[in-house]
Amino acid sequence: MSDGSMRFVIHEHRGRALHFDFRLEAGGVLKSWAVPKGPSTDPKEKRLAIRTPDHPMDYGTFEGVISDGQYGAGPVIVWDTGPYENRTRKEGKEVPVEDAIELGHVVVWLEGSKLRGGYALTFASFATGDDGWLLVKEADAYADPSGDPVRSEPRSVLSGRTLDDVERLG
Ligand code: MN
Repeated sequence: MSDGSMRFVIHEHRGRALHFDFRLEAGGVLKSWAVPKGPSTDPKEKRLAIRTPDHPMDYGTFEGVISDGQYGAGPVIVWDTGPYENRTRKEGKEVPVEDAIELGHVVVWLEGSKLRGGYALTFASFATGDDGWLLVKEADAYADPSGDPVRSEPRSVLSGRTLDDVERLG
């Protein structure tokens, strides 16, 4: 049962390239995907999401500069965070997020400061022979085909800082 106490975090991170790290609390860790273009509010947009290693829960509030020489060196902000609910169902029953990841399909309901409503992550094999996940907004009351929060809302929801602020001031 979802009790609404699980958290999601989206870090904006300028490492070798700009990307957004989409993280879902599950099993006491942050299950993570790197989303090069960031999340969309348009249900027609499929955003590539690449699974990355689990992170500890306390990383969910990290903001700062990962130092030179470290993996992912560059500035990080908490672009969005809030509670989420697992809405993954199979034959009418809730599928725990960890199982849903194994099965390649996860549906969540986000209650963030910027992102709200349903999002689906679905594993896909591409014609190129590569595989990865696709992050897609569900068609609900929070869908907004003309919105682009990645561009229009660049500030940290924790500190109000941008990536450039963090890079300049540490
Ligand atoms: Mn990252």
